[in-house]
Amino acid sequence: MGLMGKCAIVTGASRGIGRAIALELASQGARVVVNYSGSVEKAKQVVEEIQANGGEAIAVQADVANGESVQQLMQTALETYGSIDILVNNAGITRDNLLMRMKDDEWDDVINTNLKGVFLCTKAVTRQMMKQRAGRIINISSIVGVAGNPGQANYVAAKAGVIGLTKTTAQELASRNILVNAIAPGFITTEMTDGLPEDLKQAMLKQIPLAKLGQPEDIAKAVTFFASDSANYITGQTLQIDGGMVMA
Ligand code: NAD
Repeated sequence: MGLMGKCAIVTGASRGIGRAIALELASQGARVVVNYSGSVEKAKQVVEEIQANGGEAIAVQADVANGESVQQLMQTALETYGSIDILVNNAGITRDNLLMRMKDDEWDDVINTNLKGVFLCTKAVTRQMMKQRAGRIINISSIVGVAGNPGQANYVAAKAGVIGLTKTTAQELASRNILVNAIAPGFITTEMTDGLPEDLKQAMLKQIPLAKLGQPEDIAKAVTFFASDSANYITGQTLQIDGGMVMA
């Protein structure tokens, strides 16, 4: 995939989809900055797994919704590996509620992490990527950002915003050879979806033509593709990885 020695920052990489992305990028030779926001233990495990497979990685704590914290993250990545070649904006949260019941802080928390976080991290790497005249930014949106989903007005607005941000950033940065794409996963088995009621999961399954839930690795492989030379002529796109759930 041509990622040997490249520095990749993956936000929210201590578990779930972010963890799979970090492992997959490392397996292709990238040196990975495993960003985490909570306890260091799980992030350390990801770093150790990468190192055990002969790769390079560090764990760096940062809250993607906080500008100063994001600056520190990018500075640490640059000081450690000397470049920032790939940014994967993966960190995300849900605070589900029906619109009429949604509290202001449920709205703010989700928009701040899932949308403002992408803006802050993208802005923070742009200067370095412009200097390098090369870079790849891959944003993890969601299929609900395309199709909508009752009970998730905050999350849907953020994820739809990420798709718009992807297009605009791709347009602004194309002349500097910085390529920006998004992935819109469907229903992927992670701790984020584990807690959903069984009847809801079964109802979802019925809407998936491939009749199974996705795995974090399904997303990680597409991220690696977007980061690689195979995607040299692709920017501003959103790839839906959802077992065929939404065809639009
Ligand atoms: P997850 O909850 O397992 O992982 C999310 C990670 O983000 C966690 O490690 C968490 O600590 C981190 N995080 C949260 N807030 C953060 C912050 N402020 N700063 C830094 N890190 C923070 O969820 P997941 O299922 O692995 O989801 C990963 C991404 O994929 C999210 O953006 C999510 O919205 C998106 N997504 C997931 C699914 C799914 O079905 N699982 C579907 C579509 C999109």
